Amino acid sequence: MSRSAQISGIGMTSQRTRERLVQRLVDQGITNIAVLEVMRNVPRHLFLDEAMAHRAYEDTALPIGYQQTLSQPYIVARMTELLVEGRERPARVLEIGSGSGYQSAVLSGLVDEVYALERIKPLLMAGRKRMRQLKLRNVQMRHGDGYDGWAAQAPFDGILAAAAPEQIPRLLLEQLAPGGRLVLPVGQREQTLVVIEHTEQGFVRRDVEPVRFVPLIPGLGNS
Ligand code: SAH
Repeated sequence: MSRSAQISGIGMTSQRTRERLVQRLVDQGITNIAVLEVMRNVPRHLFLDEAMAHRAYEDTALPIGYQQTLSQPYIVARMTELLVEGRERPARVLEIGSGSGYQSAVLSGLVDEVYALERIKPLLMAGRKRMRQLKLRNVQMRHGDGYDGWAAQAPFDGILAAAAPEQIPRLLLEQLAPGGRLVLPVGQREQTLVVIEHTEQGFVRRDVEPVRFVPLIPGLGNS
């Protein structure tokens, strides 16, 4: 099959398979139309190795190598919804732990600029390649440690992390613009999805639901 046929999703997966995925997201309580629309259009199978691609539209996390996983579609949708709902379109968003690049591609359709950090170099390279293939030109990816954020591009209207620190990293709060929102899992064995708003009264925390993510590991990966 040609690459362009793969990119449009012909053969690997039918439009109906993706419709079913979106229907499941709706059943699980995802309501944001823009988020559902983007999830309908981003070809999740292109973010997996060939051996895993046939499982791309199951609602489950899937391995992407280096002991990391592409998050479950429900959690990608939920976190994205929490980042964008009830506010103006975020202009600048920092994503921590871009992994396969799937979440980056989803964000790309909903915000002006995505700045993504990944600590494992081969994952970063693979993610960048996918952004090029899909012509998502508003995503910049860098080899970096999410605990540091990305000071040169701060402040951000939104920050979203796909790996869990034990505590909320202070530098990330510092890089959050007034009115900005941080969405991330926090904790060790027991993790909670947390939303922090940078309000005029200070940082306001809301605990959303229990989740399970890989840990946010300090420093850069050496592979
Ligand atoms: N959103 C990704 C999920 C990848 S899993 C996707 O859609 O595929 C979480 C990712 O966080 C992994 O790729 C892992 O390498 C990365 N990660 C863990 N700690 C990190 C850190 N300190 N800085 C940057 N990335 C980190």
